[in-house]
Amino acid sequence: MKTMIRNITNILFVALMFALISACGEDGLNADSVIKESQREENDFDRWIIQKYVTPYNIDFKYRMEDIESDRDYNLVPANYTKSVQMAKLVDFLCLQVYDEVTGSKEFIRSYFPKMIHLVGSPAYRNNNTMVLGTAEGGLKITLYNVNAVKVTDVEELNRFYFKTIHHEFAHILHQTIPYTTDFKEITGSSYVKDSWNTTYSSENESLPKGFISPYASSAPDEDFVELISIYVTSSPEVWAEKMKKAGEGLGLVTAKFEIVYNYMLNSWNIDLNKLRELVLRNESKIGNLDLDKL
Ligand SMILES: [Zn+2]
Repeated sequence: MKTMIRNITNILFVALMFALISACGEDGLNADSVIKESQREENDFDRWIIQKYVTPYNIDFKYRMEDIESDRDYNLVPANYTKSVQMAKLVDFLCLQVYDEVTGSKEFIRSYFPKMIHLVGSPAYRNNNTMVLGTAEGGLKITLYNVNAVKVTDVEELNRFYFKTIHHEFAHILHQTIPYTTDFKEITGSSYVKDSWNTTYSSENESLPKGFISPYASSAPDEDFVELISIYVTSSPEVWAEKMKKAGEGLGLVTAKFEIVYNYMLNSWNIDLNKLRELVLRNESKIGNLDLDKL
């Protein structure tokens, strides 16, 4: 009898807990988000995003005005619909599909890629007047600016504005997940200049002879590491060779660091950067054949 009473008490307790949990769940939905969801009419692009981004990769692709949740110091304009569709197709084709192909499944992107891509129509500027191309917050979200101005058929511009940034931010997530060896930091250990990277080096012509693939690479070892990845995979072998020529006396430093980067990607992630670059360049060469407006 005692056991039965205890069992009934346990059941009641569990039932009460369920009631409390579901009540909390309902409280958790605040009125704002409910109103926004019901006012938003799902269009063909939203359905395409679910099919191409949300379901396979668990990535949200945000492009609407109401999604603007960036730094309020900037005066921002929403991305227009046509450009948003084009960018969504380009990110899928030039980035997600390429990593899928080199790793052999969608699992790699699904596990490690930032969970949100956020488009903004207008550019944003820092206090020192340099343009912000993209930002990443804690590896969760990538924001791409100036989308309304992008020439979608200009591969060089796409790389400079967006894809270099995307590979850069993604590579941060990778080294934060599996650290690279400390010998990387020793190669140009005393030459990192922190925030004064853009006053120390005005272009790669100045940074390369000091062993940095870009001015920004000179800010810190982690930035150096991911700049080597993002610039390598978005440069043709000819463009890369040109940079190595510019390096001159810094060539030994750049190649020593790149060797560590290359081996890290191969050994930690089973990604051959030469293969990744080959696939990036192959898809870049095909964007002229894509119908970027058709969902
Ligand atoms: Zn960075």
